Amino acid sequence: MMRVGHGYDLHRLVPGRRLYLGGVAVEYDRGLLGHSDGDVVLHAVCDALLGAMALGDIGQHFPDTDERFLGTPSSVLLQEVARLLQQEGWEVSNLDVTIVAEAPRLAPYRHAMRSRIAELLNVPVEVVSIKAKSNEGMDAIGRGEAIAATAVTLLRERKTTIG
Ligand code: MG
Repeated sequence: MMRVGHGYDLHRLVPGRRLYLGGVAVEYDRGLLGHSDGDVVLHAVCDALLGAMALGDIGQHFPDTDERFLGTPSSVLLQEVARLLQQEGWEVSNLDVTIVAEAPRLAPYRHAMRSRIAELLNVPVEVVSIKAKSNEGMDAIGRGEAIAATAVTLLRERKTTIG
């Protein structure tokens, strides 16, 4: 059995915060506003995985009204989703992420993001794809006011070993 999941997220860029994307600290003069560290990449990945399992969304599992998640690194949220995958008997066949950001340039961070996400999900790095696009100067993302990410994943039923 296989399941497809899709995730999307967008956060505002603001001064005075560190920028985290795909679980990696990115050099920039602004960061993403959010209850957690605002990592849109990990949030989109969590939602894609939860969506494939039909287990709701990130807001349901980690409500931003809950003080326990204030300032929580998004890596902790993804690890919890990885635990749910394990519990529900799924493994990640592949995961494909698109980041939409006008700046900074993300190519130098692509491998680090892939490695970090693969590590958090306990899968080989080849399973994880990261792509980055600009919005050609159009809309809030194009004006550099926000960064968005989408993620698509395919899950397969984990083979159970009997005996
Ligand atoms: Mg978010």
